[in-house]
Amino acid sequence: MLPELQALIELQELDKEISGVQQALTRLPQELTEVRQLLADLTAAVEAKEGELEELRRRRRELEAEVADLEAGILASRQRLMEIKSNIEYKAMLKEIAFKEDQRDQKETLVLEVLEQLEAGQQELAALKERRAEQEAVVQRVSGAVAEESTRLEAEVAALEAKRQALRQAVPAALLKRYEFIRSRRNGNAIAEVQEGVCLGCHMNILPQQFIDLQKGEELLQCPHCQRILYWLGEPEEEQPEPKTKAASRSA
Ligand SMILES: [Zn+2]
Repeated sequence: MLPELQALIELQELDKEISGVQQALTRLPQELTEVRQLLADLTAAVEAKEGELEELRRRRRELEAEVADLEAGILASRQRLMEIKSNIEYKAMLKEIAFKEDQRDQKETLVLEVLEQLEAGQQELAALKERRAEQEAVVQRVSGAVAEESTRLEAEVAALEAKRQALRQAVPAALLKRYEFIRSRRNGNAIAEVQEGVCLGCHMNILPQQFIDLQKGEELLQCPHCQRILYWLGEPEEEQPEPKTKAASRSA
């Protein structure tokens, strides 16, 4: 095989390896973005729950103030009751007191409901905060791992790039240009093996004369269909025919 062709085969392997590592590098921050998003969602949920609880506390203070006002009103009415002489006025005042007591009881029931909601809400808040703390730990762990993995992969790319530069020097500039040109149009595959006269890049038959020339290994050939630079490593070994004696004894 031509030495520049051998170098191109190795170069393509290396180029594939480099783009694989580079893809892994670009995927790394995505993982971190996902766990950070989850943390942001939990933080938002904690804040929303704290807002709900604040509103409930405000409602509780409001209701308790209303209860206190009603209590004061009831007390004042009871005191006035003692000064009333008229029977009709007395009955009216009693009615008013009963009405205020009813109002007060209703407000007290509402206070109890709000207290229950507060208690449940506080439990939910505690659970959310716990989940957020867990997620913070996950973010810490993932960002540490991502940083470590990035450093490792970047070093790997640098080492591969150095190998790549060395290999490129073994290939004439014009051929390298042709290789890059085909590679850019053929999804990273500029070199293809031929087996039994078929280009493994596009799975089409090359011309019979091309195949004969290719096997001689004296010139660079391109597939007439996909333009990939072709190489031939010999045909895959056929299965050895069974010895005649065995075949004969089996057929007998
Ligand atoms: Zn082809």
